[in-house]
Amino acid sequence: MAMEYSKLVELYEELSRTKKRLEKTHIISEFLKEVSIDDMEHVMLLLEGRVFPSYDAREIGVASRLMLKSLSAATGISQNKIENEWKKQGDLGLVAEVLVKTKKQATLHSAKLTLKKVFDNIRKLAELEGQGTVERKTQLIAELLTSAKPLESKYIVKTILEEMRIGVGEGAMRDAITWAFFGKETGVSYTKDGNEIIVEDRDVYNKYLDAVQSAYDVTNEFAQVAKAAKSKGLKGLESIGMQVGIPVQAMLALKVDTIEEGFETVGRPCAIEYKLDGFRIQAHKDDRGNIKLFTRRLEDVTKQFPDVVQFVKKNMKGKSFILDSEAVGYSKKTGKYLPFQNISQRIKRKYDIGKISEDFPVEVNVFDIIYYEGKSLINEEFRKRRGLLEKIVKQEPKKIVLAKSKITSDKKEVEKFFKDAVNSGNEGLMLKKLDAPYKPGARVGYMTKFKAMMETLDLVIVGAEWGEGKRSKWLSSYAIACIDDDGNFVEVGRVSTGLKEKEDEGLSFMEMTRMLKPLVILEKGKEVKVKPKIVIEVGYEEIQKSPSYSSGMALRFPRIVKFREDKGAEEASTLDYVKKLYEGQKKS
Ligand code: AMP
Repeated sequence: MAMEYSKLVELYEELSRTKKRLEKTHIISEFLKEVSIDDMEHVMLLLEGRVFPSYDAREIGVASRLMLKSLSAATGISQNKIENEWKKQGDLGLVAEVLVKTKKQATLHSAKLTLKKVFDNIRKLAELEGQGTVERKTQLIAELLTSAKPLESKYIVKTILEEMRIGVGEGAMRDAITWAFFGKETGVSYTKDGNEIIVEDRDVYNKYLDAVQSAYDVTNEFAQVAKAAKSKGLKGLESIGMQVGIPVQAMLALKVDTIEEGFETVGRPCAIEYKLDGFRIQAHKDDRGNIKLFTRRLEDVTKQFPDVVQFVKKNMKGKSFILDSEAVGYSKKTGKYLPFQNISQRIKRKYDIGKISEDFPVEVNVFDIIYYEGKSLINEEFRKRRGLLEKIVKQEPKKIVLAKSKITSDKKEVEKFFKDAVNSGNEGLMLKKLDAPYKPGARVGYMTKFKAMMETLDLVIVGAEWGEGKRSKWLSSYAIACIDDDGNFVEVGRVSTGLKEKEDEGLSFMEMTRMLKPLVILEKGKEVKVKPKIVIEVGYEEIQKSPSYSSGMALRFPRIVKFREDKGAEEASTLDYVKKLYEGQKKS
């Protein structure tokens, strides 16, 4: 029997009553035990507040305005009235709950909503195109809201506006799947205070956990993982392989503060490469010749980079493969590398793609290969993977090349390489372990990064203020936040330096205003609150304790270094990290 949406809403509610991670994990795992294979995909995606896997380029694309219209259509209450209520409550989900409650008392209408119906209608929102779209979208939303109970409508609205958060990260999801389907094998439970996991045998537990994690790392879809675990157990998980066309979590680099520390982590000798200041592209080619490109956040950017598609098509030997690379922008005039900021606009660009690729060309620097001719290479040594690359990449400068690399155990040589790297516009160096496998999604020290810069923070913009005088058309001062232990965004200050007044000089106030405007969720005088989406890299002179901000910490003299287009809000710096830097400061 098809699951009712109300069941999922009960789960959301139950989850919202606890902040403890293990309790949340337990609640989800108990729920998953009861979910049928047919409902699994819908449950897993909606739990994360989505209707598409994270790597899918489709977006629901419903703005607050359209939601107001739909709420009005569903309840018969005027848009003005709803808008006033919204200003008071600051959250359209809550507004929907209240409105539907009032309306329901009057009509006593009660059809039951299935999970599938909610899912399908929301998906359709993303697929509509062309004439009459606004009307069709309004209808689809209103249809759900008229059959929804008050609480259901709250969650429907939040999901459609992509504001749904249950405070459960990927780690807890992985644990929940393990507990749900391998609870017996691992004997997992947790202490009464909800703080610690109890297992009969740690090794056995880790074996199942790793299997779930590995399956996730190559599919990026908990639905597939949960289905395999439920229907075929451990074997099912182990048989999930990489699929060309579906992005794999990128292996991450560990930061080292000295070259010596780098050697200690990756061993001697090791490979050293320039740390290029571009953005990561994972390029897939399947045996029919289709090419797909993904960012580090696994967003599909194939359409945005027709030039890169061509390089991969023409300059690579092989029918099917998955490459890891960094695309670096260069100046058309001088040929020199440009900082990431200059080409970042290409990532989100939806129009005039041909022109922008000509104006802001990139060179692809291939540094790894994880799949070739039908076989996964992640368990091969890095040295071998690099060796294969040397055979199959037809290098053509300003199009596609191999990342410049050297094998050495000599510190002096590394120092020289570092200087050359920085002098030619790179961020620093990577030191890589020669006999290491490729561990998707892991920061395990198989590759390390060594940068010369002061440690900056990646912070999320959660609010802004309209400027004054000549800046009055721009949101020109930004409230910036990091992430606390519970996954909340807590402020660490306000920043207004670092952006340009003219558009062609780099990231400008105008551009930032354009990005923030659609994210506004509340306006009060000159202040606005925005959906936490935009991540910026922020430099500062010092970190202080401060009661003025919700994090209890404040940055002194913050300035915007760049827009971290490649990062999502959930990847922002944590409060723990800010505190660690604060403590470090005291020592030095
Ligand atoms: P960070 O973003 O500071 O954590 O540094 C890791 C990133 O450096 C990777 O995700 C890549 O996008 C980038 N990178 C630049 N050059 C290289 C390289 N030679 N090998 C691996 N990653 C690189």
